[in-house]
Amino acid sequence: MSPRSRLSLALLAALACACGEAERRPSVILISIDTLRADHLGTYGYERDTSPFLDRFARDAVVYEQAFTPAPWTLVAHMTMLTGLFPAQHGVVQEELALSPEIPLLAERLEAAGYQTLGLYYPCWIDERYGFARGFDVFRAHGSVEEARALVPAELARLDRARPYFLFLHLFDVHDGPLATGAHMLYASPPPYQDFFMPDAAGKLPALAPDVLWKSRGLLTSEQVAALVALYDGGIRHVDANLALLFGELERGGWLANTLVIVTADHGEALAQRGKLSGHGDMAQEGLHVPLIVRHPRGERAGTRVAEPVHLGDIVPTILALSALPADERLAGQSLFGPLATQRLITGTFLPEEYVVRWPEKWLRHKGLGCLGVDLERDPDELDFHPIDPKLFKRLQAEALGARVFPAPLQLAPMSSTERDALRALGYGGGDDDETGAQK
Ligand SMILES: [Zn+2]
Repeated sequence: MSPRSRLSLALLAALACACGEAERRPSVILISIDTLRADHLGTYGYERDTSPFLDRFARDAVVYEQAFTPAPWTLVAHMTMLTGLFPAQHGVVQEELALSPEIPLLAERLEAAGYQTLGLYYPCWIDERYGFARGFDVFRAHGSVEEARALVPAELARLDRARPYFLFLHLFDVHDGPLATGAHMLYASPPPYQDFFMPDAAGKLPALAPDVLWKSRGLLTSEQVAALVALYDGGIRHVDANLALLFGELERGGWLANTLVIVTADHGEALAQRGKLSGHGDMAQEGLHVPLIVRHPRGERAGTRVAEPVHLGDIVPTILALSALPADERLAGQSLFGPLATQRLITGTFLPEEYVVRWPEKWLRHKGLGCLGVDLERDPDELDFHPIDPKLFKRLQAEALGARVFPAPLQLAPMSSTERDALRALGYGGGDDDETGAQK
């Protein structure tokens, strides 16, 4: 045999080996339910039956009880979820900044490893403008969970079943938009979910334009807040029922075998808990505490609960570890199936505020207003913040971020008036008060 033939055989053997590895790698489903508060799911202790499907799913999975988002804003949170970097590292912390092409997204990493990649998203902040489309073979918008439920099996049916797939599914129906075609209404859901937990809940809200109501502070009576919460909970039940149908279909189609499934959210929701509706809960725990439920491809640790603090930046390292891909030491997070330290530092950015958590301590820095701290175990409602030394905040944040310098984000051209109008229709920005910028 000539040296050349031997080389070709060696090459083929290496390729076969690589293909074999790709075949054995688990598929990955990552579901982000926008605006879903952890404490409004049964598996996180909610008394109302909002989530019968997710509660069942959680019994076969690992429930992370203290999962943090880095920001109560769709754009920043998803960028962390899909890069594995804290906001101060990926740099996409304002609407006119996009991810540097030098920072890989999860879909790019998986595509390079032989995965078939599908990104199905609700068009809002998840947009190719910010870099989110990179690495997806299919990057396709949908308008509702019903539409997504039809799209997923249709897109999966086109795949090569011999290779693993990565499905990123972003659902927006729990959010205060999409606000029923024509009639702008808070937390609208199709029947029977609109009135699932309270008959005529929408009729109990003040007869104000929804954007006026949205920007109000301390306006609602306790009965009206209860109606608002019932509407929001109806949206969760709506998504949960559709996920039950979708998972039934995926199971029957054999798409869940050897598949890692992660269900989470980008942030929570204020629900007038501190008087205001806008801001998705800001940097309070109703904004930062998200569900994180992870079903291992081989069912490991099913039914267990993890109390150690984790964050959305742990999702990429987890997927790399379970897919037998090399770990990336630059990432902020760590695998959710590895040993987790209670004393780890987690940081986030929602300008003009930043936070650092080392459980149970949480510290906030407001640019211009100084630094405050609170103990989340002693004071879970965060009513008693105490001033802290800004130097302490700076030191802890620097420790969380590490010394590595990351490529800067790209500056985007300002949005067109059409793009701006589309966001305004969803309740984002475009107003004349300082609250609107926080509705993210
Ligand atoms: Zn969001």
